[in-house]
Amino acid sequence: MEMKNIGLDVKKPKGKCEDSNCPFHGSLKCRGRTFTGTIVSGKMQKTVTMEWEWKNYIRKYERYEKRRGRIKAHNPACINAKEGDIVKIMECRPLSKSKNFVVVEILGKEKGFAQRMEAEEESKVKKEGKVEQEQAEKEEKVEKVTA
Ligand SMILES: [Zn+2]
Repeated sequence: MEMKNIGLDVKKPKGKCEDSNCPFHGSLKCRGRTFTGTIVSGKMQKTVTMEWEWKNYIRKYERYEKRRGRIKAHNPACINAKEGDIVKIMECRPLSKSKNFVVVEILGKEKGFAQRMEAEEESKVKKEGKVEQEQAEKEEKVEKVTA
């Protein structure tokens, strides 16, 4: 099968696929916005979650803040992006309720991705633990008052 030109300067995928929602082998048309980010979840079938970072300028403080967003994207079999991969995604027609992007290129692997995920998991657990502790302390106080 001949590969389509998707109108974006990307490396053509080495693999082949039968996916009709593949921009290279299927009939899916790409247009609109493109983003580059890291895949943080690849557990779904043919769908990945990509996280990307941008800088938002705050005029009052004349500084930038870091913002992070997550986008779901279609992952065709010929590209087959995995967790930790840095990918380029491009907008397409809505493929499901929350999916209107498709992975078009793998740019590389994020260094220290596993460590970053571990650290995030740890901080989440810590936060939850703290909330529980505070809750317990509050309940203790209430008990004292009622006693
Ligand atoms: Zn394909």
